[in-house]
Amino acid sequence: MIPEKKELIYEGKAKKVFATDNPEEVIVSYKNDATAFDGQKKGTIRGKGSVNNQMSNFLMGLIEEQGIPTHFVEQLNETDSIVKKVEIVPLEVIVRNISAGSFAQHYGVEEGIVFDEPTFEYSYKNDDLHDPLLNTSHAIALKLATKEELNDIKNKTLKINQILKDFFKDKGVDLVDFKLEFGRLPDGTIILADEISPDTCRFWDSKTGTKLDKDRFRRDLGNVEEAYQEIMKRVFNN
Ligand code: UDP
Repeated sequence: MIPEKKELIYEGKAKKVFATDNPEEVIVSYKNDATAFDGQKKGTIRGKGSVNNQMSNFLMGLIEEQGIPTHFVEQLNETDSIVKKVEIVPLEVIVRNISAGSFAQHYGVEEGIVFDEPTFEYSYKNDDLHDPLLNTSHAIALKLATKEELNDIKNKTLKINQILKDFFKDKGVDLVDFKLEFGRLPDGTIILADEISPDTCRFWDSKTGTKLDKDRFRRDLGNVEEAYQEIMKRVFNN
C-alpha cells in the first residue's frame, strides 16, 4: 500500500513535511521555491524539487552504504519521499574544501583557494537570529546537543565529506562546500537528515569552474534550471 499524506506538519522554504499513518515516518515534498540571503530574495527554479529529491535520495543511499545512518526510507515519486521522523538538531553543519561564499567574505580572501584540510563549522539554526555562527562550547552551553552528540556529528560529517568528494570527483565536479543537518531518533541515535542537493552544496565543474548549484540563483548568473539538470545528469549518468 502506498503511504498517504496526512496533515501538513511543517512547511519550510524548500520543502513541505506531511504526517503519515506511521508515527515513525513522514513524507517530504520538495518544492521549486528558492530563497536566498536570509529569505530576502525569492524565486522559483523549474524542476528543482524533482532534482533535489532524487539527488538527495541517491546520495543518502551512497552514504548509508558506507555505514552512516540517514533518514531516507523510500522515494514515492519525482518530488516526494518517505523519511524517518526525527527531532532535528538545530545546527547547520558546514564543511568547506575550497574557499567560497561567506568564508571568502568573512576572511577577505578570494574564492577558489583549495584547503589542505577541510574546515568545519556550525551555525545555530534560528531564523530570528539569522543563523549565527557558533562553536562547540556554545552549542553545549545552549543545550542544542551534548558533547558526545557533537563528536558523533563531526565524525560522521567528515566521513560524509570524503564519500561525497570522491564521488563527485569521478563525475568531473569539485565539491566546494556543503551544509548538513542531523536528527535524533526516539532512541537517541544521531542520523543524517534534511537534504544534500544543489541548494545545500556548492558544485564547480572541475575543468571549467562553471557553477552547478544555487549560486546561479543567488548571484543572478543565468542558466539556473540548466545547472540543476546538469548536476543531476552528472550524478545519474556514466
Ligand atoms: N548553506 C545552506 N543553507 C544555509 C547556509 C548555507 O545550505 O542556510 C550551504 C551553502 O549552499 C553552501 C555552504 O552551506 O554550500 C556554505 O555556505 P556559506 O556559509 O558560504 O553561506 P552563503 O554564502 O551561502 O550565504
